[in-house]
Amino acid sequence: MSSPRIGVLALQGDVREHLAALESSGAAGSSVRRAEELDEVDGLIIPGGESTTMSNLLTVFDLLEPLRARLKDGLPAYGSCAGMILLAGEILDTRPDAHHLDALDITVRRNAFGRQVDSFETDLQFAGIEGDAVRAVFIRAPWVERVGPDVEVLATVPEGPAAGRVVAVRQGNVMATSFHPEVTGDRRVHQQFVDLVRKSF
Ligand code: GLN
Repeated sequence: MSSPRIGVLALQGDVREHLAALESSGAAGSSVRRAEELDEVDGLIIPGGESTTMSNLLTVFDLLEPLRARLKDGLPAYGSCAGMILLAGEILDTRPDAHHLDALDITVRRNAFGRQVDSFETDLQFAGIEGDAVRAVFIRAPWVERVGPDVEVLATVPEGPAAGRVVAVRQGNVMATSFHPEVTGDRRVHQQFVDLVRKSF
């Protein structure tokens, strides 16, 4: 089967790790910094980083409207951490001028886990991924406070003070995780996204 071409939004954040994860998941990865590069991809990853900075750079690079248009048109997308925040329909605890892409009917809270546990790791069950639990690395992560009726919850925090909090979702062709699968070497979350892109052909 041919490799889908999947872009990684490369304005800021952990772009390289996602490109490497894509390459080992059977996709051809490419950086997206310009609207013409966005035109060429079959799917897009929005990486972790800093959502308000990325929001600002989307405007600087004239990518905000082209990206909104492609998402509206059904472009498969996957956002991790800051990427989840950008894909959300509503963001709590952000700057009033921060843009969001409105591709997922969810409300996210930025930096939701609080100071005590602002970075942590846990093992969790992820819908559609069989076998061992998925190691989830959270770095000043958001959580999802509201999911709309068409949104499937893929994972929740299993234990501790944040037990039950929603940290992975999918709505149609768009998925998002609060955590960073690109840093663990486990490619199963990326593989799930690559499969989603393949099915959208
Ligand atoms: N706290 C960051 C933000 O609000 C996200 C952190 C991350 O992507 N690791 O954008």
